[in-house]
Amino acid sequence: MTAYSYNDIVEIQKKNDIVDVFKIFLEVINFDGMNWCECPFHDDDGFVMSRAKVMYISKEKQKFRCYHCNANGDVFTIVMKMRNCTLTDAVKFLAERINYVCEV
Ligand SMILES: [Zn+2]
Repeated sequence: MTAYSYNDIVEIQKKNDIVDVFKIFLEVINFDGMNWCECPFHDDDGFVMSRAKVMYISKEKQKFRCYHCNANGDVFTIVMKMRNCTLTDAVKFLAERINYVCEV
């Protein structure tokens, strides 16, 4: 099993743009320079805006946040949640996505 160092994880995060990673799992729309998608983490409670494009993905901060249920995190969080996997698996998934080779 591959062990990832802190530096590896920093590099892997740098090379996996959060907006591109979101697009693997969800439909992302760019509106006025900002990226939005439907939030997969809360149930639609019937309000018009409840699920529709309420999740904001910041390319600048490489973070996401849902304005409805407050789900938030970074590129690793979204992979863990969408694939229902551990952090190690999420790191591995993103490393393979960019053909990342560990330092050691
Ligand atoms: Zn939500």
